Amino acid sequence: MSWTYDPQNIFARILRGEIPNKTVAETEHTLVFHDIAPHAPVHVLAIPKGPYVNLDHFAAEASDAEIIDFHRTVARVIAELGLSGPEGYRAITNAGTSGMQEVPHYHLHILGGRVLGRLVEKA
Ligand code: AMP
Repeated sequence: MSWTYDPQNIFARILRGEIPNKTVAETEHTLVFHDIAPHAPVHVLAIPKGPYVNLDHFAAEASDAEIIDFHRTVARVIAELGLSGPEGYRAITNAGTSGMQEVPHYHLHILGGRVLGRLVEKA
């Protein structure tokens, strides 16, 4: 499989500092920031800094260091946002047209702070 990354996507522009963001956490390989149009009291986006289109691209081609850093940062943010207890959270990633992905840079939505309903609507 080959993936084509568009370096003009909005998250690439955030990573280049061309667009502001409300940063929650930043590491060598990962940025976490607040979603501009939150769907829940807590709604943040975790993105790798590398040019990956979606989850399968990231999981297949990112280095071990990037993959570990991303997930350790996600775990830290979930704890810092107070979501790691029994109330929990939802982590979602969209890909492609079926997933209705809007921004073609891999991102994990982390949502919490309310009951979020069922995962997807039945067809
Ligand atoms: P998706 O449909 O999974 O690609 O989700 C894209 C998400 O990016 C949406 O929830 C948008 O609200 C969010 N978004 C778009 N532009 C920005 C931005 N400049 N800063 C923060 N979040 C953004």
